[in-house]
Amino acid sequence: MAQETSCAVGPIVLLGPPGAGKGTQSKRIMEHYGVPQISTGDLLRENVVQGTDLGKAAKAVMARGQLVSDDLVCNMVRQRLLLPDTTRGYILDGFPRTAAQAGWLDALLEHELFDKRCPTRSWPIVIRLEVDYNQLLLRITGRRSCPTCGRIYNVHFQPPRTDEVCDEAHGTKLVARNDDRLEIIQPRLTAFQEQTRPVADYYQHTGRLISVNGDLPVDDVTEQIYRILEDHRA
Ligand code: AMP
Repeated sequence: MAQETSCAVGPIVLLGPPGAGKGTQSKRIMEHYGVPQISTGDLLRENVVQGTDLGKAAKAVMARGQLVSDDLVCNMVRQRLLLPDTTRGYILDGFPRTAAQAGWLDALLEHELFDKRCPTRSWPIVIRLEVDYNQLLLRITGRRSCPTCGRIYNVHFQPPRTDEVCDEAHGTKLVARNDDRLEIIQPRLTAFQEQTRPVADYYQHTGRLISVNGDLPVDDVTEQIYRILEDHRA
């Protein structure tokens, strides 16, 4: 069917430092438009848990809050993007994280994915979530998720009804990510400053970067993102 092979929203890249709300917003976009969220952080963590070769190579680097090598991450992303659920669009969350990854993604789209996955040849819409530094720290240190249903909470801003327990997956105790500890946050924010800022510059130069005020309440941020995506569909 034609609808299955055309892009519903095209590729979406969500940029922003750790704690900017990329995961939360991705999940909303995913549900709203019915396109998959591809979080490189989640994929890497799954590989670590499963003990794959990739997981073994990435584990120590991630524990230090540094970036996994471009080769490993790009290969993982290529395999994910070739799965059949990406034909109507997808959300990249946490990728690209270096200028090299951004250039690699454009080349992959142009030479492989446009023909196989997206006949409308849509370039990614790149949305940058901008968040104040102190707000980021609160968001990261307060972040908890449910290991059963994946729902994300924040003990400061969006606490569960019962302390540290998921509202939806009955009785499941919420967990904090290993790399959300204060001593790992600083290297992660430094990695963002040094390596991910050039990604924004890359997209700025190609005229594809749109910034959103990520300090606003979560529903307002979602509203802004939907407006941008609708403008691009119009
Ligand atoms: P995240 O969940 O996006 O904060 O990612 C957690 C960790 O996974 C990061 O601190 C990096 O070690 C690694 N990681 C995730 N995405 C990438 C990427 N695109 N390039 C390199 N490393 C990544």
